[in-house]
Amino acid sequence: MSTLLEVTNLTVSYGGIRAVKGISLTVGESEIVSLIGSNGAGKTTSLRAISGLLACQCDKIRFAGNDIGNLSPDMRVRTGLAHVPEGRHVFPALTIDENLKLGAYVRKDRKGISHDIERMYDLFPILKERRKQNAGTMSGGEQQMLAIARAMMSRPKLLILDEPTMGLSPKMIELVLETIDKIRREQTPILLVEQNTIEAIQMSDHVFALRVGEIVHRDVGANVSDAMLKHLYLN
Ligand code: ATP
Repeated sequence: MSTLLEVTNLTVSYGGIRAVKGISLTVGESEIVSLIGSNGAGKTTSLRAISGLLACQCDKIRFAGNDIGNLSPDMRVRTGLAHVPEGRHVFPALTIDENLKLGAYVRKDRKGISHDIERMYDLFPILKERRKQNAGTMSGGEQQMLAIARAMMSRPKLLILDEPTMGLSPKMIELVLETIDKIRREQTPILLVEQNTIEAIQMSDHVFALRVGEIVHRDVGANVSDAMLKHLYLN
């Protein structure tokens, strides 16, 4: 399997404090890779640095054959990175249709955009039923689904998801897990931050566990158990 994203020796500091201390990871074509760890371990900071939203020092961030370490966040989106941040960042006063159209802002192919909106509605029928309603009227899980579908509208080569299940009810978490599974079946690779949803972690091909800014364990998702998470987070 060829490597899509290669991050080597990534360090991120806030003022004088190093939040991420020289981590390296790779994501292969069509893989789900998870970053796990307790609060403050450096998961969100790592994702934001990879997307160009935070300055960092690193030897290399290579993505889809390009060195992207010096590119702006917008240019990184144009090379095929789509980042869905923590919390549900939909535009609540815009309709679901309008939210999806905004996700395609880097594209000019109007026909392709219309086609992909319908493709998202086929993947996520709940969104189709409510396409003319404002996004703010949807539940938390549905908004998370919309945020993911909107990111897919840029036709990303890699989808970056930061704690998509955070703060959701078990039923809504189920919905988000189904969404991740559908995206995987669409062959779009995912770099995921997860803390507690073991099912999402177990869906991953590879898992990197962070503790105070360092990778302390790597595994395949299927090997990760609740007991292992407790051990990793408490020690
Ligand atoms: P959580 O799940 O709580 O978001 P995380 O693993 O994503 O945890 P980060 O948010 O990346 O962790 O934070 C890593 C470290 O950097 C923490 O010690 C945090 O307090 C610190 N940090 C994060 N954002 C800032 C900031 N804007 N300014 C200063 N320190 C920050």
